[in-house]
Amino acid sequence: MMEINGRTRTCGLIGNPVEHTMSPAIHNTLAEALGENLVYVPFHVPEGHVEEAVQGAWALNLLGCNVTVPYKSRVIPFLREIDPLAELIGAVNTLVRTKDGFKGYNTDMPGLYRAMCEDGVKIQGERALILGAGGVARAVAMLLAQKGAEQIVILNRTVEKACRIAEEVNGIFGRAAVTPMALSDYAKLPSDGKYLAVQATSIGMYPKVENAVIEDPAFYQKIHTGYDLIFNPARTRFMSLVEENGGRAFNGLKMLLYQGIIAYELWTGAQVDEPLAKRAYEAMKKAMGLE
Ligand code: NAP
Repeated sequence: MMEINGRTRTCGLIGNPVEHTMSPAIHNTLAEALGENLVYVPFHVPEGHVEEAVQGAWALNLLGCNVTVPYKSRVIPFLREIDPLAELIGAVNTLVRTKDGFKGYNTDMPGLYRAMCEDGVKIQGERALILGAGGVARAVAMLLAQKGAEQIVILNRTVEKACRIAEEVNGIFGRAAVTPMALSDYAKLPSDGKYLAVQATSIGMYPKVENAVIEDPAFYQKIHTGYDLIFNPARTRFMSLVEENGGRAFNGLKMLLYQGIIAYELWTGAQVDEPLAKRAYEAMKKAMGLE
């Protein structure tokens, strides 16, 4: 355990709730391993107090913060500056201290990209599916379009939300990369090639672990790689269905890890190498009761 003294810097997590977070395990492991005099703690911010939380964090000389549900968009008006990627995504999960306020970043998407690279999942030239059209799915669509997926189909229960994302992403990237589709129409997907599928709905998340957003094995036969963004449970029903039908499956644990690592790198200027990333990964899994 590190010694806390007069020079210890603080980073923290702003959210509601925050009690379930794994981020302290990631950041405190990194700080200890790198010999950085820094602690990371959760801050439960009640509804209606996000502005005070951001201003208070700056006034208290915090080095940085993560931001989680429900404040990822709501912190934006209180920032001094916003990184272009975070602005494009419309959500900030990391605040970095600057001379006169915080600068907002989004490390969720770079985190997912670093996790996919590490897992050997290719995006360039792929045909991709996104299940869901919530906040995270929108950012995934931007990532896949930016990294050169050949075609991206967004399947969502509320098809209007998928349409809105498709319009927006196609507008930004100037090509008809994204096509919306109603979830119930999944059988209409052509079967002349296999897809990379990113599962970005909340279906299958603890405690309702027995569900997948689509159950039909015929759908899973069209998938070569299934990337579930859910990390609890570590093996979701979606992942089992992908694997049972011959595909590779991954969970959202590494995305969670790398969004934290990239935030830590922004706060401290440190470079987290692979052995240290593995150490933080093990600490995070231990905190979740997975190892
Ligand atoms: P969100 O905005 O609430 O979106 C939820 C999505 O799930 C929507 O597309 C919604 O469809 C769909 N959905 C919910 N219930 C459904 C049902 N019964 N049938 C069909 N579709 C249903 O959530 P989000 O913030 O984008 O998060 C999505 C997932 O990403 C969550 O599971 C979260 O755990 C995960 N996540 C992971 C990480 C990580 O680091 N690994 C980080 C952030 C989030 P409608 O539009 O039709 O309602």
